[in-house]
Amino acid sequence: MLMPAGSSDLYEKRKGVYPKAVDGFYRRLKWAIMAVTLAIYWVTPWLRWDRGPYAPDQAVLVDLAHRRFYMFAIEIWPHEFYYVAGLLIMAGIGLFLVTSAVGRAWCGYACPQTVWTDLYQHVERFTDGDRNAQIRLAKAPWSAAKIARRLAKWSIWLGIAFATGGAWIFYFADAPRLSHDFWAGSAAPVAYATVAVLTATTLLLGGFMREQVCIYMCPWPRIQTAMLDEKSLVVTYKDWRGEQRGSVKKAQAKPDLFGDCIDCNQCVAVCPTGIDIREGAQVGCITCALCIDACDKVMAQVGRPRGLIDYCTQEDAEAEKQGAAPRPVLKTLLRPRTLAYAAVWLSIGAAMLFALGARTRIDIAAQQDRNPIFVRLSDGAIRNAYMVKVRNMEARPRPVTVAVEGLPGAMLWTDAMPREQAAATVTATVPADSVAKLRLFIAAPAPGPQRQDFAFTVRATDREGGGDREPARFERP
Ligand code: SF4
Ligand code: SF4
Repeated sequence: MLMPAGSSDLYEKRKGVYPKAVDGFYRRLKWAIMAVTLAIYWVTPWLRWDRGPYAPDQAVLVDLAHRRFYMFAIEIWPHEFYYVAGLLIMAGIGLFLVTSAVGRAWCGYACPQTVWTDLYQHVERFTDGDRNAQIRLAKAPWSAAKIARRLAKWSIWLGIAFATGGAWIFYFADAPRLSHDFWAGSAAPVAYATVAVLTATTLLLGGFMREQVCIYMCPWPRIQTAMLDEKSLVVTYKDWRGEQRGSVKKAQAKPDLFGDCIDCNQCVAVCPTGIDIREGAQVGCITCALCIDACDKVMAQVGRPRGLIDYCTQEDAEAEKQGAAPRPVLKTLLRPRTLAYAAVWLSIGAAMLFALGARTRIDIAAQQDRNPIFVRLSDGAIRNAYMVKVRNMEARPRPVTVAVEGLPGAMLWTDAMPREQAAATVTATVPADSVAKLRLFIAAPAPGPQRQDFAFTVRATDREGGGDREPARFERP
């Protein structure tokens, strides 16, 4: 139906959120997680890891040009991408585990949107003051002082956004060299474009959009509603204890009528998404628990027990309503569903560790020439030709021996040597971190099956050894 112009707004205008500073256990936990996550993000590309002279010494590097992923002692080649897929699956199951145990803890503590928004809000308190000062400044007409504060805030925000976008590109190239090239103006255009895009999105999402990303843009809150159940820990206002709300004075006058909530609004004032948890569970609650800190402080001031707002499962909330004592949090975490997620997560992790430990660093592949399929030599023997690829995944050259199994009397030589030097094996040195291609000829006695299955083998002849095997076929007239 068409709406007459100006008759009604289809979308509610955003109400400004000015979260008040708060101190307490969960706030300090958030500081610690913020410090660790930001330090990991900014410091990681600068960590070095010695892999010898043939490989980069950056501890974590996504080397797109050479199609390698380095992570400390682990080097992943393109054909090993399943390890990355395994890591992504583990991350997904880890999120399921965390959500079923402690609700939206990821959103409240470790999500980049939360961490950067928290940082930006802290900068805002530094430039504009706490909640009340921010509200006054937002309502004040533009003046030299307001412009100065806004410029100071936006400049610091921009600096953080630039540092965020700038750090990202260092994961994809040698950080010290790229940093030098970047400031010298000689880095690749894509580096400048990436930094520009990430600077803009960080500033926009963390500085200006903030809670709107969590409430309207991110799909994760909706997905989580399917994962939460009555045994998941969520931030809960214990209405059976708090209602009816009333001031301390009113409660003193009529103690039977009023609950513990003194309606001070501190839980709303500190909320980074601007919601009132007393209205019940809602998609805007990222489970940051700052309202718990705020309310616990109020309860301490008025001499009432802490935990009017607290982490609590729906099941425990119902039991507490009936008079049961609060259950220790640890007991709510250990239940079949979380243990099953943990078991799957650990099993995948253990399988990946085992596979990483057992993987061969030398492998071989072979493709037979089809034209001609075989050649009869002057001495009557039959010759087949193959393109053999030996892959060395170590960051150092490795001597190898290529041989065949299941082809009696076979003699091998390459196109770089005369047939007179043919032998039962061929030796080569495969350069570090690369694939050596050998055009290999095999001569075998003419009597034999028209199609004979055999296998190429490759074995590293250095101290570490290791090898691989590749099935192939020898063809006769
Ligand atoms: S902080 Fe606690 S006491 Fe104050 S309004 Fe919120 S729930 Fe009530
Ligand atoms: S209601 Fe409480 S836990 Fe939820 S987002 Fe607001 S402050 Fe954080």
